[in-house]
Amino acid sequence: MSKIIVLTAGHSNTDPGAVNGSDREADLAQDMRNIVASILRDDYGLTVKTDGTGKGNMPLREAVKLIRGSDVAVEFHTNAAASKAATGVEALSTPKNKRWCQVLSRAVADATGWKLRGDGGFKPDNAGQHSRLAYAQAGGIVFEPFFISNDADLKFFKERKWAICRAIATAIAMEVGAARV
Ligand SMILES: [Zn+2]
Repeated sequence: MSKIIVLTAGHSNTDPGAVNGSDREADLAQDMRNIVASILRDDYGLTVKTDGTGKGNMPLREAVKLIRGSDVAVEFHTNAAASKAATGVEALSTPKNKRWCQVLSRAVADATGWKLRGDGGFKPDNAGQHSRLAYAQAGGIVFEPFFISNDADLKFFKERKWAICRAIATAIAMEVGAARV
């Protein structure tokens, strides 16, 4: 049976999320969603539902509706902290998706050398700064691959985003048992 992957981008064109200089969380989230979706479709033949293409980005209440019936649903965010030194990878969900959170976080940690936060990259969905955890409650994963507020990590992400997104896509494909096409 064909696996269904849902990928959504946190925030929106009217809610930029966290900002560092000219870089906005909403834009980085859309970029990650678009790249990971294209790799999963083109290299693994998976069915991927998104909350928009390009700069498209549905509001959360619409994005949440995509989750039902999917094998995994991931919403991309970037983390932010008052301390510029804060670093690392984490994903938030209900306990049911703990393993998925760890798989996603591990993929990014292995590709970048960034540390795993929380329990091997997993944090319970009530541990976050976002008011978007309706997504986790609906069965999805709120993924924070890096801190936009960390200048070095942001620069590294922008230089290596294709490799990092490929690592995320490969981990998702492996976890759902997809073979390369
Ligand atoms: Zn966010």
